[in-house]
Amino acid sequence: MATFVAQSTCMLSLKRVPPILCSLTLLILAAGCNTAGTTAVVKKEGPAEVAKQPTPAPAPAPVAPVDLVDHKFDRQPFTYDSTKKYIYLTFDDGPMGGTKDCMDVCRQLGVKATFFMVGRHAADKWGKILVNEIKQSYPQFLLANHSYTHANEHYKFFYQHPDFSEADFLKAQDSLHVPYKIIRLPGNSAWVRKGEDKSSHLVSAVCKRLDSTGYNVIGWDEEWNFTRGQSFPVQSPAKIASQMDYAASGHSHLKNHVVLLSHDRMFRTPAYKDSLTKFITIMKQNPNYVFETIDNYPGLKF
Ligand SMILES: [Zn+2]
Repeated sequence: MATFVAQSTCMLSLKRVPPILCSLTLLILAAGCNTAGTTAVVKKEGPAEVAKQPTPAPAPAPVAPVDLVDHKFDRQPFTYDSTKKYIYLTFDDGPMGGTKDCMDVCRQLGVKATFFMVGRHAADKWGKILVNEIKQSYPQFLLANHSYTHANEHYKFFYQHPDFSEADFLKAQDSLHVPYKIIRLPGNSAWVRKGEDKSSHLVSAVCKRLDSTGYNVIGWDEEWNFTRGQSFPVQSPAKIASQMDYAASGHSHLKNHVVLLSHDRMFRTPAYKDSLTKFITIMKQNPNYVFETIDNYPGLKF
């Protein structure tokens, strides 16, 4: 059937060709137009042509989705023990000399602490390593936000320009990759929590902005002061421990929760690192004290 169709088609185009030439041409064309003949050629060349085809790429293996969320910062409901008093050690202004010493002491004594860090202090590789070590040490240590520039030490100007100060805190949050929205204002003790805004007139505008974007602001109850110039501790370990006891006996911002402000750099020498060890050792002797990170302070927004 196929051959007949091929010959018929050829004959239609040969109507005006002389008979002898037509017969000769018919013989040639019959072979060329013969479907069976063509099929034979295809059969010979078939395998070669198949071989030339590119091998289809194997289907890509299914890739498991990359989980970029650091689950150690997933919040779990925190249950407070009403028979305990919670102590929050906070170290400000790092990363700097002394940060590592504070970490060493807290690790050695098995207590939790919070590091309020300054973005620009982590601009170099060494600072980034310290910040990352703090962050990776959660839940023992918590990284929190203490601004990017530390107000350039011009607090009045900083807080009188809330656009500028708010942007400075957001820059620190991004550059340090702070896990929670918890801030301590440079040079000013203010409190912004769920249903609370306790701030002085100077910092009120920036506190309102931070509150509206979900930030908490943490002040302090007691401060371990430092000397001007060298920034060494003023109070002895026993003295600051007695101050903490006093605050814990109903004289803190929130009953049964006491926040201590200190600074990393105060403990950068072996002698003052030992003072920190002595202070925490005294506090640990009270079985009612529990050391917590500041994200477990009551009433924070998450
Ligand atoms: Zn500070």
